[in-house]
Amino acid sequence: SREIRLKTRPVGLPTAANFDLVSVDLSAPGPGEVQVRNTWMTVDPYMRGRMNDVKSYTPPFQLGEVLQGGAVGEVIASNDPSLKVGDLVQSGNGWREAFNAPASTVQKLETHGLPPEAFLGVAGMPGLTAYVGLLKIAALKPGDVVFVSGAAGAVGSVVCQIAKLKGHKVIASAGGAEKVKFLKDELGVDVAIDYKATPDLTAALMAAAPEGIDVYFENVGGEHLEAALNAAAPYARFAICGMISQYNATAPVPGPRNMALIIGKNLRLEGFIVSNHWDMMPAFIKDLAEWSAAGKLKWKQTVKEGIEKAPEAFLGLFSGDNFGKMLVKLS
Ligand code: NDP
Repeated sequence: SREIRLKTRPVGLPTAANFDLVSVDLSAPGPGEVQVRNTWMTVDPYMRGRMNDVKSYTPPFQLGEVLQGGAVGEVIASNDPSLKVGDLVQSGNGWREAFNAPASTVQKLETHGLPPEAFLGVAGMPGLTAYVGLLKIAALKPGDVVFVSGAAGAVGSVVCQIAKLKGHKVIASAGGAEKVKFLKDELGVDVAIDYKATPDLTAALMAAAPEGIDVYFENVGGEHLEAALNAAAPYARFAICGMISQYNATAPVPGPRNMALIIGKNLRLEGFIVSNHWDMMPAFIKDLAEWSAAGKLKWKQTVKEGIEKAPEAFLGLFSGDNFGKMLVKLS
């Protein structure tokens, strides 16, 4: 079985040289253990932070050790009565083709009629992030005008759709003509902004929402945050979910120059980490099942095949190589 290990800590944008592909022998699972063959693994932006040797809300990856992350797979050998061969399971043991682990550390997957890999994207952590950020943190209420950055990605595309389902005006920002077309034609957002072709984001946003934005779902940071502050309506709420434009920065980045607007406009900016809101998962899955059965939810994924492609898939997150959820399919 092959796995990806962290060879060196990236400085700035990671490169393929930061990763090692290693073959390991797997023994039979010990007492209480199962052996799982992963069929899908996810790469996510937060993993970049774990590649730095700093204390954060998740511990850093260790040099020379296999990386970790979400995965779904199939039990291929079991030495525990709770799981049997053929069971579909979800685990935090991604970045490897197969593994042995105590049965109690993997979760049996109920697919609710969805493909298993959906639980790494729309029906998993990224989908829940969209749901929590929009409904709980930003406290979406009728009539709100919503602005979403990173809108064609895993989290952003779900934010756009939940807001449209609930009848809101949605302004979405993403990089490139193809993504903008998808946001308008397929997700049905009201205005889509190609930030890469927009010299003045504030002007574009103000033109899109002359009445101001009431909710900003922040995935990007930097100029996007500054523009959102400029275009915010009084009492707007910002769900600060991510700032991917800064994850590879090697020096402190300039802050938005207009933070004082927070005062006069009575704004609320609130960060959140989805793992502190797992209690909302049942409500999310219930809504998701309904939306999906009614054909109201679309999801796109970009798939790289083979464990050897995992680093490339991860790096692609920082160049916008993905449309919707970036996934790696394992053979
Ligand atoms: P995405 O699927 O959105 O992939 C990342 C996207 O970010 C790319 O496709 C690219 O889209 C965009 N991007 C990359 N670099 C830049 C840049 N310099 N400027 C602007 N856009 C850029 O990833 P996720 O949906 O998984 O995550 C989206 C955000 O949500 C991230 O910031 C992530 O850290 C955060 N997050 C936070 C969680 C939490 O608990 N708070 C949980 C999950 C995610 P484009 O082509 O449009 O540039």
